[in-house]
Amino acid sequence: MSGTTIYSARKIITMNPNRPMVTHVAVKDGRILAAGSLDELATWGAFTLDERFADKVIMPGLIEGHAHSMEGALWSFTYVGWFDRMDPDGKIWSGVKTVDDVVDRMSQIEKTMNDPNEPLLGWGLDPIYMDNVRVTRHDLDRVSATRPIGILHASGHILNVNTKGLELAGLLKPGQNHPGIPLGDDGLPNGELKSPEITMPAGKHVGMDRAFLAADAEGLRNYGRLCVRAGVTTSSDLGQQLNDDLVGVFETVTGQADYPVCLVAFCINLGKSPAELVDYTASMKDRSTQRLELGKIKVIADGSIQGFSARLQWPGYYNGAPNGLWYIAPDQMADIYQRALAAGVQVHTHTNGDEATQLAIETLEGALRKHPDFDHRFTLQHCQLATEAQFRKMGRLGMCVNLFANHHFYWGDEHFALTVGPERAERMNACRTALDQGVPMTIHSDAPVTPLGPLFTAAAAASRRTASGRVQGEHQRISVKEALYAVTMGAAITMKMDDQIGSIEIGKRADFAVLYDDPTEADPDTLKEVRVWGTVQGGRIFEAATI
Ligand SMILES: [Zn+2]
Repeated sequence: MSGTTIYSARKIITMNPNRPMVTHVAVKDGRILAAGSLDELATWGAFTLDERFADKVIMPGLIEGHAHSMEGALWSFTYVGWFDRMDPDGKIWSGVKTVDDVVDRMSQIEKTMNDPNEPLLGWGLDPIYMDNVRVTRHDLDRVSATRPIGILHASGHILNVNTKGLELAGLLKPGQNHPGIPLGDDGLPNGELKSPEITMPAGKHVGMDRAFLAADAEGLRNYGRLCVRAGVTTSSDLGQQLNDDLVGVFETVTGQADYPVCLVAFCINLGKSPAELVDYTASMKDRSTQRLELGKIKVIADGSIQGFSARLQWPGYYNGAPNGLWYIAPDQMADIYQRALAAGVQVHTHTNGDEATQLAIETLEGALRKHPDFDHRFTLQHCQLATEAQFRKMGRLGMCVNLFANHHFYWGDEHFALTVGPERAERMNACRTALDQGVPMTIHSDAPVTPLGPLFTAAAAASRRTASGRVQGEHQRISVKEALYAVTMGAAITMKMDDQIGSIEIGKRADFAVLYDDPTEADPDTLKEVRVWGTVQGGRIFEAATI
């Protein structure tokens, strides 16, 4: 038992519709005892008044409904992406704009390495911004010809390696015939490797070890620090191949007294049969703690739109690219859905293309006939191309959605010109339609695909501004207020945690984002500039500047 602390603030935005704004919040034992005026709160008995946030704005702790803790692990490697990006220490790494810049940055790091055989790995490369100029093994040989070197693309699906890396992977030989191993003029692989069956084994030789691919303790701690900087107090870790070992790492790290965020770790449908997946996930539920939520499944239905691997309905890709890939067979999806409904396990399904979304909707409808469930909240993740008819159906079936609003900024121009064309680009990530059709909605970063930052994501949904500055799909914009609700209560609802988090009201966990600026005074274009001081999570205070 601890005493009651009452915090004052310039403004407290509660997301509680009964009293949307208050001036004080009382915290006891990590929970909210009351939110209101100081006079009201004082009636609960003895308290300490803490005025450290008197000039700050407090809102419910931000909730990231689709991210990967791998974002924390990646910062042990070298960032070579196009956009400026902040690391867990708060340092901004400037974006690299040319292949020479990539080589320069990798060379600077290479010079600091003592062990000549230690691999050097970079991440975040996105040639789509560099006029699609491809990095070759010869470029990376300029960094070092003797040390294995790799660079993972922003999409996570393509890996560039140097000649040494190819040699160690056993790929430096002529006569190879695989679409994932493009060849140079000399008939040898040019160093760009595609598709998991090629990149995973090759990646081991250039530093993509277990710590890189899954969660390790340091990566999880770094991820926690990134969360504090972004005002995030609860984050999904959407799609780990969970096993007892990995759950043990999660338990140890999140159990540390100073771990600043609650992680919601979903078990992905890879490497387990539907029966194993559902049984294992159901058995994990009881191991949930204050800062680790277990017992949810992530299913992947298709690929990505910008990678042309998403499944699209007619007429398909705008540039004529062939339709994408199914990552799961329909009967397997049906098997998982039915078992999960029977076991009371929630499933979130990655669909990007509208054909994949249609499959998930129809599969769930069939499964619900066998196992009716009046509050399953099965959620579609990304669901970027859904039509109004699909949202209407999702609303009727009790589904939720988590839309990929950051795409408007990061790939919006490419979707307009190349992948899906003008008409469908304007309906992508249709937040307005989702809300109008009564589908509970949140929005996400999919970090590390784009940087963690729910206020940026909220701004992306409210402004729908692309990297070139156009507003794409003005009729799908939502208000700043709706966007802020989406990254707090909206996310809590999709993860069935709205009874615990998402608003500042009596009985809920004391999770706050502490801000220098008032987001309710921002417009869609200035919302992303709102500065984060830090967080309060379960009543514990974390300042971004010192985390
Ligand atoms: Zn993801």
